[in-house]
Amino acid sequence: MIDTLQFPITQVAKSRIKELDMDNVQFGKSYSDHMFMADYVDGQWKDLRIVPYGNLSMSPANTTLHYGQSIFEGMKAYKAENGDVLVFRPEKNAARLNKSAERMCIPEIPEEMFMSALTELLKLDRDWVPNKPGTSLYIRPFVFGNDPFVGIRSSLTYQFIIFTSPAGAYYSRPVKVKVETKYTRAAPGGTGSAKTAGNYAAALYPMVQGQKAGYDQLLWTNAGSHEYFEESGTMNVLFLLDGVLCTAPASETILDGVTRDSVLTLAREWGYPVEERKVSVKEVIEGVKNGKLQEAFGVGTAATIAKISHIGYEGVDYALPGEEQMVLSQRLLKSLDDIKYGKVEDTHGWIYRI
Ligand code: PMP
Repeated sequence: MIDTLQFPITQVAKSRIKELDMDNVQFGKSYSDHMFMADYVDGQWKDLRIVPYGNLSMSPANTTLHYGQSIFEGMKAYKAENGDVLVFRPEKNAARLNKSAERMCIPEIPEEMFMSALTELLKLDRDWVPNKPGTSLYIRPFVFGNDPFVGIRSSLTYQFIIFTSPAGAYYSRPVKVKVETKYTRAAPGGTGSAKTAGNYAAALYPMVQGQKAGYDQLLWTNAGSHEYFEESGTMNVLFLLDGVLCTAPASETILDGVTRDSVLTLAREWGYPVEERKVSVKEVIEGVKNGKLQEAFGVGTAATIAKISHIGYEGVDYALPGEEQMVLSQRLLKSLDDIKYGKVEDTHGWIYRI
């Protein structure tokens, strides 16, 4: 744990935790007692504070509501057997928030403020981290332009908030994904590598079309030619092709996932050849046909690993090897879980202990 910055903390008069059925929490529906807030005014982050979780009040002209100058992060805290609260690689999220901030003309969030806010918030709300296997506390830091101004320019004022939300055990059954060849998530020169609101809003319509056609997720391909895989839904996507673990390189059209980095690190350590390169739709579909595609899976904070059972392409559903044959994805899932819940020694320095 770090020496945190000093700021005022206003605690709730009475915790709401007893109102929650911790054994049946639904993701994204309940929020812990407190939240961290800071305001960017006159070129500085000011008024750092922890307050009871509650609604915000803002002008209808708030710039973010109209023009989407906002960025966010997503990470999780886990309860170890000895009761310690463990956060997985939060410095990576702090760094990515600042990468997103730069692209969206949002002022930098000092890492010291980010980590102090996170630490104090989790110290206060540690009882909200569920302790059943597979459960976690989802952490949502975000920053948005706060000017009450209806004109297109970068906001002069901002708010940085972190709130947390208990999440139940997340098991992802193997998913059916559709290769998206009409719509595009991110284009060169666009905002794909930033975690910014508009990317997610723009993906909703294609996602709904995919769901109507019977798919769980989309496999995004590159803008224009739609020849190469980029991401799967809101996860990075990896393919085990003839013994080689392949994934698109982190680029301006791909979100540089913390799980992706962790998975590639482990696979390299285990001796798998890893290639960060363009992976074509053609080679993957051929790989399904000739048996060279052994596994395909999405990776991200929400599910850790989402194995792919079918790939839909040009009206045909291609079935991948069964779940019992997905040895690498299963091993990755187990190893990452063991690290996150503190069941094994943290040899990578990935765990931040509260
Ligand atoms: N791609 C997108 C578009 C995402 O929203 C996410 C979730 N943050 C990811 C990939 C996976 O990133 P991470 O492993 O850091 O959760």
